[in-house]
Amino acid sequence: MTRLQNKVAIITGASSGIGRAAALLFAAEGCRIVAVARGQAGLDALARDIGTAGGEIATLAGDVAGEDVAEAAVALAQQRFGGLDIAFNNAGALGEMGPAATVSRTGWQEAVDVNLTGSFLGIRHQVPAMIARGGGSILFTSSFVGHTVGFPGMVAYAASKAGLIGLMQVVAAEYGPQKIRANVLLVGGTDTPMGRQVITTPEMRSFVEGLYPLKRLAEPGEIAEAALFLASDASSFVTGSALAVEGGISINRT
Ligand code: NAP
Repeated sequence: MTRLQNKVAIITGASSGIGRAAALLFAAEGCRIVAVARGQAGLDALARDIGTAGGEIATLAGDVAGEDVAEAAVALAQQRFGGLDIAFNNAGALGEMGPAATVSRTGWQEAVDVNLTGSFLGIRHQVPAMIARGGGSILFTSSFVGHTVGFPGMVAYAASKAGLIGLMQVVAAEYGPQKIRANVLLVGGTDTPMGRQVITTPEMRSFVEGLYPLKRLAEPGEIAEAALFLASDASSFVTGSALAVEGGISINRT
């Protein structure tokens, strides 16, 4: 398939879960990948899988909460692959969980630093590179948590994910004239290591699955398909939107 032929994408959080699934799918669609995460081993495994399938990838190990990583990812895209067309700002952290009034300042800060500030630092470098390229598509991984559901115990996560919607809307409004589109995915419960950090027992899993009209969690590949839509020209008139890919949990009352 060639839906991203000759495109170059930065994907953060690419070593696991949704980011890894997106990297594999984008590469299969002809996209060259700059994969970012903290752990080199997961990036190496991804690089092997993409290389074996005939795709092209460069990896960068680092923390998205640092601006040096945002800058280096864009430089790598430009030096290795000639520019940047797509940025999937997907790396995320749960932060400290617990009742809002008990969460520590440090636990709050972790979620805000990775989820919100990390994305902001990303766009500071991604936008100029896309303007130089003549346009692009920026995606952020947000959540139904903090948008339509006040999920107990997730104050730092919810606030940081909600903040991404405001960030995305301003980027979409400001840089639309330069042919840069920006959108967020409102992701629902997905079977990934992070998902399994929240859902810790079979009983909890079956309770959570029951909250969804579809009575199940998502597979990472299902979220990656939605990311592909927003990254590709198939969504050429979609910008400033928060796309619900959450199995209907926000509308379910049964
Ligand atoms: P995952 O499988 O645990 O993957 C998280 C990825 O982010 C890993 O590659 C991890 O690699 C990377 N990462 C974490 N912190 C980082 C940091 N500070 N700097 C750079 N990379 C970092 O989880 P996932 O479910 O795919 O999560 C992807 C996104 O989906 C997150 O933004 C999450 O909030 C969102 N989301 C998930 C769910 C769900 O139910 N799973 C629901 C809604 C939204 P390293 O640890 O090696 O850095």
